[in-house]
Amino acid sequence: MNYCKDLPSCICFYCGQLSTCRDHIVPVAWLGTYRHNEWSSAWVQSCSECNTLLSDCVFDSLPERLEYLKARLLKRYKKVLSIPEWTPSELVELEGEILQYVIQGQKAKAILHQRLQFDPYAEMALHVS
Ligand SMILES: [Zn+2]
Repeated sequence: MNYCKDLPSCICFYCGQLSTCRDHIVPVAWLGTYRHNEWSSAWVQSCSECNTLLSDCVFDSLPERLEYLKARLLKRYKKVLSIPEWTPSELVELEGEILQYVIQGQKAKAILHQRLQFDPYAEMALHVS
C-alpha cells in the first residue's frame, strides 16, 4: 500500500526531489519469514539517497522516519550549509573558475534548503481534491 498516494508519483516523500524507488516503511530485511504480511507492502516513494540513508532503520511512525531522515541530511551536508551567502555585488567581482565554484555552492545550498523544508503532508493536502 502506498502511504503517500496523494503525492505526485515523481516526488520523494521525504525530500521532494525526484522519486526513483520505493522506501518500505518496515524494511524488508526486518520482515524475515513475515515477508508477505500487510507491512511488507507499506511503502512511500523516495529518491535513492533518502532510501539509502534510511536503510533498515525501524521507527514507530512515518513522521519519526521523516524526522530522522532530515537529521541525517543535515549531518551529511553540514559543509554545504556552512557555505556563506554571496550578494550580487560581491559576485560581479568574481570571475572564471572561482565564480563557477561559488555559483555551484549557492545552487547546492538552495537545493538542500528545499529538501530540508519539504513537508510531504502539506504537499499531499495541496493535491487532494
Ligand atoms: Zn529524497
